[in-house]
Amino acid sequence: MRLNFPYLLKWFTLIAVITFTLHACSAEKDEQINNLTSQVEELEEQLEIAEEEKSELKQQLSEYDVNIEEMNDELEEKEEELKDQESKIDELTKQLEEAKQSASRSGSKQVFLTFDDGPSKVTPKILDILKEHNIPATFFAIGQSVEEYPHYTRRAQEEGHKVLPHSHSHDYSIYSDLDSFYDDFYQAKNQIEEVLDQEIPPYFRFPGGATNQVSTDYGGDQIMAKITEDVKERGYYYFDWNVSSNDANHEEVDALDIYNNVVATTGEQDFAVVLFHDSPTSHSTAEALPRIIDYYESEGYEFRTFQDLTEKDLNKMKELNIANKTIY
Ligand SMILES: [Zn+2]
Repeated sequence: MRLNFPYLLKWFTLIAVITFTLHACSAEKDEQINNLTSQVEELEEQLEIAEEEKSELKQQLSEYDVNIEEMNDELEEKEEELKDQESKIDELTKQLEEAKQSASRSGSKQVFLTFDDGPSKVTPKILDILKEHNIPATFFAIGQSVEEYPHYTRRAQEEGHKVLPHSHSHDYSIYSDLDSFYDDFYQAKNQIEEVLDQEIPPYFRFPGGATNQVSTDYGGDQIMAKITEDVKERGYYYFDWNVSSNDANHEEVDALDIYNNVVATTGEQDFAVVLFHDSPTSHSTAEALPRIIDYYESEGYEFRTFQDLTEKDLNKMKELNIANKTIY
């Protein structure tokens, strides 16, 4: 083959063109790479800024959380204070009410009609008379009878009277010992609360009264001292009476005798807790009742129940040995 100049020139030119093209391509790639690199760098910078912002926001958020927690605590405290204030207001309102009542009573005569041993067949008659005269009374009930006559028990309450425990069985063997007493007492209390569907105040009357003699036959001569101390420790009040109708003799007592007994034992007392009975044989009691009510009304007595006893009433009853009489 002959290598002449034009031929060589042709080759040289071809090689130059290829070299230049290749070089140009490589330069373009480099530029692209440079571009991309700077874009990546820019994005990385943006990412960094975004992360910084994110951690700042997180910081703010946790500060808000702490603030919200603190504000919730404060809110709870305020609510608690508000509740305290409300209950103080309630307590003061109650005291004010009691003070007003006792101020309006100071100097006035008061009588509490109390009926033991019910309910019985005679209860509706007694309730009718009380209703007719618009007089409230207190019933110291027998649990077993409450079980037998729940409707009379509820009626008494609905008509504004107070029903409290006397005994469940009225069997004097309850005075054998503390356990026997409480077994019977709580049965009566629970029975009454169940029928009335409400809690009753810690008031009751002992069968036979706190000074009964029959208890010694069962629990010895110290049993009433022991039981009375124990019930007081448990926060209970037991109530006797200072006026007796003597309506509980075995043979039927005359209604006029009942009336005379009440008037005689009331005498000059301006605070009277009167003992009656509500038993199947208490017809004379019911019969005597209207005249007895008339007597107290004409003498200016206010009729009360054991529903709204104030601290002052309880102290007065203690002074008069009607409430929590000490037994030796
Ligand atoms: Zn009784």
